[in-house]
Amino acid sequence: MPESNLAERSDRSEEQVSGAKVIAQALKTQNVEYMFGVVGIPVTEIAIAAQELGIRYIGMRNEQAACYAASAVGYLTGRPGVCLVVSGPGLIHALGGMANANMNCWPLIVIGGSSERNQETMGAFQEFPQVEACRPYSKFSVRPSSIEAIPTVIEKAVRSSIYGRPGACYVDIPADFVTLQVNVDSIKYKECCMPPPVSMAETSAVCMAASIIRNAKQPLLIIGKGAAYAHAEESIRKLVEQCKLPFLPTPMGKGVVPDNHPNCVSAARSRALQFADVIVLFGARLNWILHFGLPPRYQPDVKFIQVDICAEELGNNVRPAVTLLGDINAVTKQLLEQFDKTPWQYPPESKWWNTLREKMKSNDAASKELASKKSLPMNYYTVFYHIQEQLPRDCFVVSEGANTMDIGRTVLQNYLPRHRLDAGTFGTMGVGLGFAIAAALVAKDRNPGKRVICVEGDSAFGFSGMEVETICRYNLPIILLVVNNNGIYHGVDKDSWKEMLKCQDATTVAPPMCLLPDSHYEQVMAAFGGKGYFAQTPEELQKSLRQTLEDTTKPSLINIMIEPQGTRKAQDFHWLTRSNM
Ligand code: ADP
Ligand code: MG
Repeated sequence: MPESNLAERSDRSEEQVSGAKVIAQALKTQNVEYMFGVVGIPVTEIAIAAQELGIRYIGMRNEQAACYAASAVGYLTGRPGVCLVVSGPGLIHALGGMANANMNCWPLIVIGGSSERNQETMGAFQEFPQVEACRPYSKFSVRPSSIEAIPTVIEKAVRSSIYGRPGACYVDIPADFVTLQVNVDSIKYKECCMPPPVSMAETSAVCMAASIIRNAKQPLLIIGKGAAYAHAEESIRKLVEQCKLPFLPTPMGKGVVPDNHPNCVSAARSRALQFADVIVLFGARLNWILHFGLPPRYQPDVKFIQVDICAEELGNNVRPAVTLLGDINAVTKQLLEQFDKTPWQYPPESKWWNTLREKMKSNDAASKELASKKSLPMNYYTVFYHIQEQLPRDCFVVSEGANTMDIGRTVLQNYLPRHRLDAGTFGTMGVGLGFAIAAALVAKDRNPGKRVICVEGDSAFGFSGMEVETICRYNLPIILLVVNNNGIYHGVDKDSWKEMLKCQDATTVAPPMCLLPDSHYEQVMAAFGGKGYFAQTPEELQKSLRQTLEDTTKPSLINIMIEPQGTRKAQDFHWLTRSNM
């Protein structure tokens, strides 16, 4: 070996690298693009090292919101986002986001700093059994045994988060790892993991499923967020159109096939579920959202065909007629092959279609009637009809709240897959602003110009309201709509509130669901330099919406006052909470 090379080699073997840099490089090698977090001891260096490698670091105001944002990136892009948190309480705050991601089957990596190894069990600063704490909320929870082991552990965490049923993974980083220097040559980075393998269903099961569908009298396809995550929009749409089948999206399944598609039976949801004799589930679990697949919401002898990537899911709560274990997109293509071989379509003029159409018409008419009410304060339907009128077709809709989310979902349309983010399987409040921030960042990088509309109940907004500062700091042109009824489910008007305070101590008389009447949430946005609007009438709402949509450079918040004792349309929405049943 020439001498100069030898000199280079000996130089190199003395080159040191910190644990923080190894973590950042390992994440970069796995194509991680976004890191959300709240820095502090001992993780600040990790965020800086990540930025140095071009990973976007978004500093949030609370670990919960950071974790929600990271998980939404996972759902939207199919690659996990990272949530970086400090030890002890930081990690504990992130558990909400981890649980939410895992419940939703969304990929996520949480990296938690933890106390130094040599202080373990001594009552170290923020000492907490973090690996154990994360285990119930994740697919994989581990502390690397050394800095040298970090790349392998991070590759495994990223791979585990996207292979099979997606979910959350936790990597614990003791404080002493962060600054410790090791020899560069001792670190071997693992190549980026391969994209998830695509699995297909057994041919005999596919044939049986096709035959059950052909013989159905009252068929229904249910499209879940698993289908959205699987990018199965093209194949599912083909199946819907080729076989002329009615379909019902779940809340986040909305947009896989556009909501305004003639075969969408959302407006006849209860009836479709109740009388279908064959139901094909594309990435939707038979949990509370779908009333467990059981009577009285379903026929006792309804035949379920379950399509899911997770074998353990198959047969939950019902005995399915046939199960198709595999990737939704691949399995739908397998079904399409059957219908290509022997073409078949469900008769468009069947009695089933007529019943569904009739119900859709009457439900639509009922909500239009509510929307047309001129009385003030406005009701939910009036508000959502005006929003829907101006909503750009390609926007992301983020939504949370009770009635706000529930009623909003029926009026606000989705035309594109993976463009709706809401409280999800876990019914989590507080996700909205984190999700909106994630969607805005993903939109900025992949679809510049696309808007993010975040429709929040006033109570829901409060859970992570300080993230408005984050939105303004990064100047993300998110439109926050706070649908304000002065409370959780509902509140009281200003005068009744004053009366209540007169008689006694507020803590003993104020209804637990009440929030301060007529709060000016728009001033929170104004405080950080965004635009705030206060809308009490349809005209004010229309005008402020127009202005926010025109201004593509700034975040804004419209505080929309509605009646505090809001009424719901007496129909299909009672499933969200037991107390609403
Ligand atoms: P929803 O809330 O829309 O009803 P769920 O979260 O209950 O949806 O269900 C989503 C399902 O999709 C999960 O059971 C998950 O295992 C499944 N899933 C996720 N990705 C895929 C995929 N690529 N192929 C098949 N199933 C998938
Ligand atoms: Mg409210």
